Amino acid sequence: MSIEVRGISKHYGDFVALGDVDLSIPTGRLTALLGPSGGGKSTLLRIIAGLEVADAGTVEIEGVDATRLPPQRRDVGFVFQHYAAFKHMTVAKNVAFGLEIRKRPKKDVRAKVQELLELVHLEQFADRLPSQLSGGQRQRMALARALAVEPKVLLLDEPFGALDAKVRKELRDWLRRLHDEVHVTTVFVTHDQEEALEVADEIVVINHGRIEQVGSPEDLYDEPANEFVMGFLGDVTTLDGHLVRPHDVQVHTSPDRGGVPGTVVRALRIGFEVRLFVRPEGAADEGSDVVVTLTRTFARALGLDVGTPVWLEPEQGARVVPVRRTPAGALDGDDAGREGVLV
Ligand code: ADP
Ligand code: MG
Repeated sequence: MSIEVRGISKHYGDFVALGDVDLSIPTGRLTALLGPSGGGKSTLLRIIAGLEVADAGTVEIEGVDATRLPPQRRDVGFVFQHYAAFKHMTVAKNVAFGLEIRKRPKKDVRAKVQELLELVHLEQFADRLPSQLSGGQRQRMALARALAVEPKVLLLDEPFGALDAKVRKELRDWLRRLHDEVHVTTVFVTHDQEEALEVADEIVVINHGRIEQVGSPEDLYDEPANEFVMGFLGDVTTLDGHLVRPHDVQVHTSPDRGGVPGTVVRALRIGFEVRLFVRPEGAADEGSDVVVTLTRTFARALGLDVGTPVWLEPEQGARVVPVRRTPAGALDGDDAGREGVLV
């Protein structure tokens, strides 16, 4: 393991930002810390970097107890959402900065900067100022600068968070390819499920200062540990008091095989898919509608349309998670309002 976090707690006054967190981050992998805003992701990353001091617990980096080491002695590179470049220095100078303050020979610095600029595809921009780069290029420069001193661990806090959707997606693919080239242990904070699912080898889901689940993208999607993880990583709907993925709901057009009776109240066609909203028998309003997705061909074959009576059950072997309900039927806390809605 590259990073061992043990019993880390952090309070701000009475507020628990992190409550007794244990986590092992494997060497050479790309790990995402994923969760809703305010969950404690940045706090954990900053504690690993030494930019924040925990109230309790220890951090070990590559076998060295780093708990009391200052950030500059932890051998980590850090990239923030808003990268603070040296405005008056060229791109090449910015990337060289960490090497120059470490008094590396000029020739080595030059070679290393060239290599890094090639790696992040900025070689033709070496002599520009940061203000002459696009947002995406600036974040790539930030990565090159963080990598220059060959850190053992690269820590990225929502590095693409301030960029527009298209650039984010490009940089996400680019980061994955970069990681496949350099294999530096990387911890990547994001609140974007798709980003984590696409980029990471391993995902750590963090919510309310606690770890909900750790696993590969497939594990988390197919075998979510609880209601929160299931709802956070993928579409969900509620069927008979259980969360289930809309594509895992089976539709029958006769009562012979059982299932929850209802009526199709809305049908949306989206590309090759049809999204049905089924009102269960006796339900008062759309708050209880079950969302079902199926292929257009299949929906047509079953003759499904608005007004069709149907019977629903989870597909055999589908992942279902019981929903915690208050007597009023509302979901607790952050999940309120999600019921019956695709998230
Ligand atoms: P995330 O990165 O997951 O969005 P953070 O780790 O930044 O969450 O914050 C976790 C919680 O701790 C938030 O509710 C935030 O308001 C609180 N918090 C973070 N830093 C401070 C601080 N310096 N003072 C008070 N509260 C803070
Ligand atoms: Mg954050």
